[in-house]
Amino acid sequence: MNVVAKTHTASAAQSVEHFDVLIVGAGISGIGSAYHLTRQLPGTRFVILESQESFGGTWLTHKYPGIRSDSDLHTFGYSFKPWVGPPIATSEEIKSYMGEVIAENDLARHIRYQHRIERASWSSATNLWTVEAVREDSLEPVTLTANFLWMCQGYYRHSEGYTPEWKDMDKFKGRVVHPQRWPEDIELKDRKLVVIGSGATAATLIPAIADQCGHVTMLQRSPTYFRVGRNAIELAETLRQLQVKEEWIHEIVRRKILFEQDAFTRRCIAEPEQVKKELIGQITAVLGPDYDIEKHFTPKYRPWRQRIAFVPDADLFLSVKSGKASVVTDEIDRFTETGIRLKSGDTLDADIIVTATGFNLNVLGDIAFAIDGKPLDFADTVTYRGMMFTGVPNMAWVFGYFRASWTLRTDLVADFVCRLLAHMKNRGAKKVVTALRPEDHNMPLLSWIDPENFNPGYMMRNMHLLPKRGDKPEWQHSQDYWTEKDQFPAIDLDDAAFVYD
Ligand SMILES: Cc1cc2nc3c(=O)[nH]c(=O)nc-3n(C[C@H](O)[C@H](O)[C@H](O)COP(=O)(O)OP(=O)(O)OC[C@H]3O[C@@H](n4cnc5c(N)ncnc54)[C@H](O)[C@@H]3O)c2cc1C
Repeated sequence: MNVVAKTHTASAAQSVEHFDVLIVGAGISGIGSAYHLTRQLPGTRFVILESQESFGGTWLTHKYPGIRSDSDLHTFGYSFKPWVGPPIATSEEIKSYMGEVIAENDLARHIRYQHRIERASWSSATNLWTVEAVREDSLEPVTLTANFLWMCQGYYRHSEGYTPEWKDMDKFKGRVVHPQRWPEDIELKDRKLVVIGSGATAATLIPAIADQCGHVTMLQRSPTYFRVGRNAIELAETLRQLQVKEEWIHEIVRRKILFEQDAFTRRCIAEPEQVKKELIGQITAVLGPDYDIEKHFTPKYRPWRQRIAFVPDADLFLSVKSGKASVVTDEIDRFTETGIRLKSGDTLDADIIVTATGFNLNVLGDIAFAIDGKPLDFADTVTYRGMMFTGVPNMAWVFGYFRASWTLRTDLVADFVCRLLAHMKNRGAKKVVTALRPEDHNMPLLSWIDPENFNPGYMMRNMHLLPKRGDKPEWQHSQDYWTEKDQFPAIDLDDAAFVYD
């Protein structure tokens, strides 16, 4: 690929910095992708543009009390850097791990913070992307060109979370807070809190604040599945006692976890009722037989249609058991001056209402894309294995797994992108685009993810914005690490689905 430090655009006659590869986002995906690029294609001139003031992405944005991973860090961490702490990690621990990756691999000099990308335009005349960003500190515009865009911007809008509109919200005299924008000045002592939602965020936040506030109520429309366990991996502890090297422990524990997750997913599909019984049994063991488990902790959907949050050391359920937290399963009728009126007619008093109601999914970082001057709507494209899009040249998107750790796919996609870039160089190609082959033309086009397979609210609300999926493995994000880990390295880059120029 062409390595040119500076080019001159004929129209603007101004100096525009050029890169072989431009990575969008300095979250766990962007930093991992940069690492692989430096290892697999040393000498590639690349830059990471990040709108926030530091790295971390999700782990920088979310600052609510208790913020932690719900996957284990052996698989949420990278394949190449051992995780040496407890498997469920705080955001601080994840950021410090990422900071070590940046320092150990000299990546900091490639990252430009506070650069929010607003537009990206592909020109077939030059075979380049022109990327227009704005500096968040000075509002100064910055224009760069790149041969290849590596999209690591995640899947939701970092600037604001999703809050539904409830009747009379404006009448509530207390404070309404979304966990994605947790205020630094919030006073919890002796306050009554209602947390709306029962996903991973609510499950993390509630035990972290239950001791500080007067009382916290988790208000849910319907129950969610949880897994309960110790925040430790026995095998890792044993191997450490035996003074096995951390690199080995990381690899062995990763394999064990992946093996067990695969078995668990298969069981969820083969015997959902049995799995359901076991998951609910873990909660009954903490809360006891007198607690109304049927009403508050028995979901209507099958396990694994939504991500199952892990509750380390049963902390959420211990908060409920202690009486500091409680669960209400009901629907909101309206807000009142002093809290929430429920459809059952009951009321909940609150000083603070926390809307743990999820994210606003966004497509490729809210960037306005255009190809040869024509605005690009990703919903008009078909995805190539959840990484590339028909008709969109020189671009890959890292969209991880929901049922397995996101980062497993970051590593797989990185190997693929590096192989593709090397292949282009060998062929002397300046452009690669995926296209449906003759045998794909009558293929049914479906939504990005099958709602029968995975259906959380933020996906269902916005599925129409996402690229389409076909019914063949090439044309979908399978959400299945265990098949993709074998399929991706075997992708034939000379298949007719790849068109080079
Ligand atoms: C609270 C929470 C907990 C989670 N826990 C887990 C877990 O335990 N396990 C798991 O597998 N997944 C988890 N997830 C999902 C999680 O988002 C991903 O696993 C992972 O962190 C995503 O990493 P990423 O780098 O792809 O994207 P992000 O973390 O979203 O980072 C993307 C970065 O790109 C930047 N960016 C976006 N648009 C632009 C733009 N236009 N210009 C410049 N920069 C831009 C953003 O500022 C951000 O820093 C969790 C999500 C949340 C919200």
